[in-house]
Amino acid sequence: MIFRQLFDRDSSTYTYLLGSNEGKALIIDPVKEQIPLYQQLLKELGLKLEVAVDTHVHADHVTALGDLRDMTACVTMMGEQSGAACVSKTFRHGDVVALGELLLDVLYTPGHTDDSYCLYLRCPEGNRVFTGDTLLIRGTGRTDFQNGDASDQYHSLKHLLSLPDATWVYPGHDYKGWTVSTIGEEKRFNPRLQVSNVDEYVSLMENLKLANPAQMDVAVPANLKCGQTTSRP
Ligand code: FE
Repeated sequence: MIFRQLFDRDSSTYTYLLGSNEGKALIIDPVKEQIPLYQQLLKELGLKLEVAVDTHVHADHVTALGDLRDMTACVTMMGEQSGAACVSKTFRHGDVVALGELLLDVLYTPGHTDDSYCLYLRCPEGNRVFTGDTLLIRGTGRTDFQNGDASDQYHSLKHLLSLPDATWVYPGHDYKGWTVSTIGEEKRFNPRLQVSNVDEYVSLMENLKLANPAQMDVAVPANLKCGQTTSRP
C-alpha cells in the first residue's frame, strides 16, 4: 500500500492519499487549492485516481472533489446525509469502499455535522481510522453548526473508542502540530474524552465559544456543489 498524509496550511486540513498494489488511488478530504500537488504526486507515484471522498460537508475549506472528478473521471463519494447532489455515489454506515486490495469500512459518526463519517482501513502495516472532524488528536470537532450535535458526537466517539487500541488515528485537521495518534493514546490523553457521561460531554462542548471559520459562508455552499461555484457549459 502507498500512503501519504498531505497538509493544507491555510485551513490546517489533512488530506490522505491511498494507493493500491495495482496502482489505483483514493483520496480523502482533498482541498481545492492543493490540486496541483495531488496531480504531481499521483503522476510521480504512477497512480490513477479512482475515488475521491469527503468525510463531511466542510465549512473551512473548499473541496477538490468536483475538479478531481472532471480531471480524472474518478468516482466522488460522500455520506447519504450530505445533500450534495454533485457526488457520483453516496455511502452509509456499514458500506465498504474498495480500492483493489484495500477495503475501507464506512462508519457513520454524526455530531460534528449530521453527515460526518469515518473510514476504517484494515491493513497489515497497522489498522488505521480516518476520523474526519469527529476525533482530532487531543481534541474533537466542534458541534455548534451544520446540524452538529454534541450528544450524537459523544456516541460516535464511543464507537470509535471501541476500535482496537493500536489503531492509528488520522484526523481531518490539526492546529497544533500533531500528525498521528492511536485510539489507545486518545483514550488516555484526549481531554475531551475524560468525561463520564453524555451530559458532561454536552456541557463541555457548549462552553467552547468558538468563532466561526473564516471561509464558512463560502465553503459550505461551494462544497454542496463539490467545490464548483461557477456554472459549467
Ligand atoms: Fe469540518
